[in-house]
Amino acid sequence: MNENIPEVLISEADIQSRVLQLAEQISADYAHADDLVMVGVLKGSFMFLADLARRMSIPRTIEFIAVSSYGDSDASTGAVRLVMDVRGNIAGKHVLIVEDIVDTGHTLKYLIGMMKSHRVASVRTAALVRKADKAEVDVTVDYLGFDIGNEWVVGYGLDYAEQNRTLPYIGVVKPLDT
Ligand code: 5GP
Repeated sequence: MNENIPEVLISEADIQSRVLQLAEQISADYAHADDLVMVGVLKGSFMFLADLARRMSIPRTIEFIAVSSYGDSDASTGAVRLVMDVRGNIAGKHVLIVEDIVDTGHTLKYLIGMMKSHRVASVRTAALVRKADKAEVDVTVDYLGFDIGNEWVVGYGLDYAEQNRTLPYIGVVKPLDT
């Protein structure tokens, strides 16, 4: 185990079995929908998106979007900035936003608005983890992997100062003040 990671919060096996369940559920829900576009939110969602998309059994295309929160601290300020929009034309398509983690919910809410401004047919959301106690805005996660507490987590795409993204499991770097 990596010495920087004091605790494994969600094991690789638990992640993989949950991702498979989500992939099957999404495949069933969109079985009759044409034009499903999975929009991954860079950088953190790259591993979740890759595993989820590979386990799905319906036609799908992939786009990426990048956003950043204003400010550098661990605490979200709620202000979100678009860094890179999708490159393809997604108007009229069914969009599934694929996020790594939902904390306050501001980012996901902003992204849903962004997708609607592209005049898509529908928008749903998938997130691997959510800090349920931290929600500041009402935003629905249609396909959720796991609820966790208020801790800074890394691995499976998630970073701490750009480190630890490639770990196959989710670990806790440090507890956060509430
Ligand atoms: P929100 O807008 O929901 O407050 O914040 C969402 C974003 O904050 C995520 O996409 C992620 O970039 C970052 N974030 C929030 N909590 C964590 C965490 O525990 N670990 C990591 N690596 N990023 C987090």
